[in-house]
Amino acid sequence: MANRNYALNPWVAEFVHPGVEQEYRSEQFRQQRCQVLVALLVWAGLWLLFVLDDYGRIGPQPEFGVMLVQRLLVFGAILAFVVAIPRWPALFTESHGLAALMAIGWTGYLSLYFLLPGDEIAWIFGMGMVMLVALFVFLPIRIPHALGVSLYSIAGTAAALYLSHGVHGVRLASVVGAMMVPVVTGLVVLYRLQTIHRKQFGSLKVAQEMNLELAHEIAVRRELEETLRQQASIDPLTGLYNRRQYEELIEHEMRRARRAGTPLALCILDIDHFKRVNDTYGHGVGDEALQFLAALCRETVRETDIVGRLGGEEFVVALPDTALDDALLFSERLRTRLEQAEIETESGVIRLTVTIGVAELSSQDASLKDFARRADQAMYAGKRAGRNQVQAAA
Ligand code: GH3
Ligand code: MG
Ligand code: MG
Repeated sequence: MANRNYALNPWVAEFVHPGVEQEYRSEQFRQQRCQVLVALLVWAGLWLLFVLDDYGRIGPQPEFGVMLVQRLLVFGAILAFVVAIPRWPALFTESHGLAALMAIGWTGYLSLYFLLPGDEIAWIFGMGMVMLVALFVFLPIRIPHALGVSLYSIAGTAAALYLSHGVHGVRLASVVGAMMVPVVTGLVVLYRLQTIHRKQFGSLKVAQEMNLELAHEIAVRRELEETLRQQASIDPLTGLYNRRQYEELIEHEMRRARRAGTPLALCILDIDHFKRVNDTYGHGVGDEALQFLAALCRETVRETDIVGRLGGEEFVVALPDTALDDALLFSERLRTRLEQAEIETESGVIRLTVTIGVAELSSQDASLKDFARRADQAMYAGKRAGRNQVQAAA
């Protein structure tokens, strides 16, 4: 998995990669949603509350009615925005909607220059500066949109002052200059916040991706380990235990049987005239026949029994908790099933028989070698006696 690009575009303090930027904004939205809604409602509430202040300043004049309407319109716009956000989160995440709302708020505010008496200008202007900082601090907005709203507020204030009270020249320039202070401060703070948040987001994502890669790597290694373990213990042609593995398992069973005083039986199977199968049909068919017998053995045994490939066309089956008589019955059942089986191969149906030697663990067996030798001798006795039979060891 390739790491994604978390570089920032220094002009707008946003991720260069559009997908990453989108993901960041969605996550920010989830985290800031409540905070933003509260900020908007506080804004709306304050906006309306100032109706009382308006009345105090101008009393029951016609201008008061205009101001009331203006305040209600902006209040309504903010509430509409609050209601719309859950449905259209892009209004907030893309900042277009938020910027438009701020512009509406500013327009409403600028109307005050035309409605309040001339000596109130300083007050309106001062409140405007406070409003500007508050907007940047409480409503997270993208840098280009913040810039747009700022320019609109400065230009709008200048235009309102000129049109309503004829302010111009150096006085107007100094007003614009004074407004630049909160705007520049607000933008710098906003820029730094946006950069820090995005860098944190990027670091977190990189760490998460590395964790995922690590987890994936561990899973691959585990799988590899399991494959290696299987390869080391399983015969690839038949899927049965290989010699190394079944010897270990049978030796374990021998120790257990001796400790618990329970019987343990061992069967050695050798396919009869297997060379003929190879000679007549080729090695491929011989292999299929070996796979068939392996599957038959596995189907016939219990889960606790051990089936392995001794080598060539010889197999070994160890039966824990099984005495000689029962092991002979089992072997006879297996022999009969093979004798009756029609083995489908690529060269058509073939038939096989098997000779089985069976031994039960005795106190004289010093090792698995001794135990297996007795079973092997019984199997050879069966070969000599005509094959396709089960022989018990002495
Ligand atoms: P019998 O046991 O009845 O005395 O006769 P046999 O023909 O089976 O004799 P033997 O056990 O000596 O022959 C074993 C043959 O098994 C020799 C070899 O060609 C074949 N063989 C051993 N391993 C494989 C194998 O992996 N695939 C195939 N196709 N044949 C194998
Ligand atoms: Mg053989
Ligand atoms: Mg054979």
